[in-house]
Amino acid sequence: MTATAPTRPTTAPPTTLLDFRDVAMQFDNGVTALEHVDLTVQRGEFVTVVGPSGCGKSTLLRIASGLETASTGSAQVSTSRIGYVFQDATLLPWRSVTKNVELLAELHGDSKEERRRKAADAIELVGLGGFESSLPKQLSGGMKMRTSLARSLTLDPELFLFDEPFGALDEITRERLNDELLKLFTEQQFAGLFITHSVSEAVYLSTRVVVMSGRPGHIVQTFDVPFPMPRDPDIRYTTEFAELVGEVSHALREGHH
Ligand code: ADP
Repeated sequence: MTATAPTRPTTAPPTTLLDFRDVAMQFDNGVTALEHVDLTVQRGEFVTVVGPSGCGKSTLLRIASGLETASTGSAQVSTSRIGYVFQDATLLPWRSVTKNVELLAELHGDSKEERRRKAADAIELVGLGGFESSLPKQLSGGMKMRTSLARSLTLDPELFLFDEPFGALDEITRERLNDELLKLFTEQQFAGLFITHSVSEAVYLSTRVVVMSGRPGHIVQTFDVPFPMPRDPDIRYTTEFAELVGEVSHALREGHH
């Protein structure tokens, strides 16, 4: 008989960062926002959720972040390093870019030196170098979103939640920020859960697109996006891309009742 090598304790971090099983959300006023939602997000995935307004997408993110508790089902998130970016940049108007970006590290209790370093790194990552002392009112919409992104990046998130962050931006700025977000995704290696109303944005950013029905929101269809990362911006103009956008849009219309 051969001796078996002692098994080593596994130190590998979990690959499933978010695991929702049969999640439902019913509010006290009787509104059912979500029902029978099964959704996982693995390391290395960027999952985008599209669905009609009011179907429960923001509720889904709030449950993922721990701000809200699901009424029924199991909603597991296996990391505490969660970034959260909202549609509104939610910057403090009296604070400079640097001071806004430092905010979460400050709340976390990091030393002044540590938060300065984290903020400087994050500002560099989002391409806001040179604007450190600017106030929010001096920034464009795109720059405000970059500041908001940088603020969450200081947490070094493993799971990054995005609630339609680029919805209010013009097309060109949105495309540019999509490219920069993809670059961050490949370099920083967080997993993403992203909400948008734009099907082409969903297909461009994601490794997987999840289509939700009208309220109560449930998942009607899931699409794996076959285009490799890092993504070539020009795929947006290919037939394959247009076909997938068409299929997702079709599923969205079918599920909208
Ligand atoms: P979406 O992000 O898809 O537009 P939401 O998750 O914001 O949808 O909301 C889903 C539904 O749940 C909406 O009808 C909304 O009015 C309702 N809702 C959201 N939060 C609450 C709450 N705290 N109390 C009661 N109803 C809510």
